[in-house]
Amino acid sequence: MPRVLILGGTGDARELAGLLVGRYSVVSSLAGRVREPSRPAGEVRVGGFGGVPGLVSYLRSAGIDAVVDATHPFAAEMTSHAVTACAAAGVPLVVLRRPGWVEGPGDRWLRVPSYADAAAALPSLGTRVLLTIGRQELAPFAGCAGWFLVRSVDPPSVPLPAHSEVLLSRGPFTREGELALLREHRIEVVVTKDSGGSATYPKLAAARELGLPVVMIDRPAPPPDVTTVLTPTDAAQWLASLRWGLPRWSRP
Ligand code: NAP
Repeated sequence: MPRVLILGGTGDARELAGLLVGRYSVVSSLAGRVREPSRPAGEVRVGGFGGVPGLVSYLRSAGIDAVVDATHPFAAEMTSHAVTACAAAGVPLVVLRRPGWVEGPGDRWLRVPSYADAAAALPSLGTRVLLTIGRQELAPFAGCAGWFLVRSVDPPSVPLPAHSEVLLSRGPFTREGELALLREHRIEVVVTKDSGGSATYPKLAAARELGLPVVMIDRPAPPPDVTTVLTPTDAAQWLASLRWGLPRWSRP
């Protein structure tokens, strides 16, 4: 069976692994950031590769025939390494990126290009903040005034705003649950990054229902000149379209 590496750490990556196991020899790669990750079907490896050279060497030693980068849209470094390493090793690559969220009627979103811009926008929007950007990029908010409910899967390890409370929680979330959370903590503004997907969308529906502003951090630019698909099914179809019988150097 052709051997496929899924660069994972997302729900889409887990779904894709489930679709592929049995048809391909699947190995999913996790960064190892989350203490108790949800494990995908098939073989799993954990930890960084050691930059581009490490990934090139892994692709060769593990006999990888194709790579699906199904990392989070904000995991830009891993994606950039995958693009360079796959080109160097002559291994076909597809990037699986779920679409970003789209503002609709009733939404009050402020789109910003960076975490620092999100922090700078807060004083004019509200003083009680739900901060749902994970735990790695919290530093720009450390000097902010106001009260913060910081939600993340694992405990943050960087300085937090002076007045804050940490809520350890993992999606998927529901509209009812998010409404209750926003009401209970008298939240005035929500900060999120444009992750896309349905699992963490309910906070946006709840904010709309309560008329709250949302600071939406834009995604990093997608890699240029790489095939990109939107769903796990599309990624499986891309794999099925590869000419597996040919030597690796002559495949598209
Ligand atoms: P990143 O900044 O793009 O990557 C930093 C380094 O972490 C990479 O150079 C690589 O180390 C290692 N790495 C990242 N993803 C990896 C993977 N799937 N397998 C093996 N090594 C990986 O990544 P990140 O934003 O910290 O995200 C880390 C993981 O969390 C990813 O799997 C991502 O899908 C998941 N995740 C991220 C976010 C987010 O908002 N960033 C949200 C949810 C889930 P080497 O250079 O040593 O190879």
